[in-house]
Amino acid sequence: MPQFVDTSPPGQCIFCRLVAGEIPAARVYEDALTIAFMDLGQVNPGHVLVATRRHAANLLEITPEEAAAVMQTAQRVAQAVKAVFDPPGLTLLQANGREGDQTVFHFHLHVVPRHEDDGIALSWPRKDPPASVLQDHAARLRGALPGAV
Ligand SMILES: [Zn+2]
Repeated sequence: MPQFVDTSPPGQCIFCRLVAGEIPAARVYEDALTIAFMDLGQVNPGHVLVATRRHAANLLEITPEEAAAVMQTAQRVAQAVKAVFDPPGLTLLQANGREGDQTVFHFHLHVVPRHEDDGIALSWPRKDPPASVLQDHAARLRGALPGAV
């Protein structure tokens, strides 16, 4: 994960300043709700960040409309990345909170072209809990999701 951490207050964060045009950026796409640009911390050619135009710290603070718009922009960017760089793989990465490896606290999603042996690592330590534990977790989440079946 990148080591850079932006500790600017809301409204003055590095992505808000980028949206406002106060700092230069390699812009890729913009619409009413989103902006896509290239990060200096690019990990593979064609690595693009998609952020909300409005400052919101994380997934829990964006609106459903912003969530949909970010994914639509990510898909459009992914299609362009495929057309231009033709990577054999592509990973979307969206981090929330320091413990979730978020480093800039303005909602964004990474569109990362992937290649075999490109050095990007995501550890996935399976815990394999008993089925009864999964059923309990699912029941608790259903209780917190109005309209869930
Ligand atoms: Zn911001």
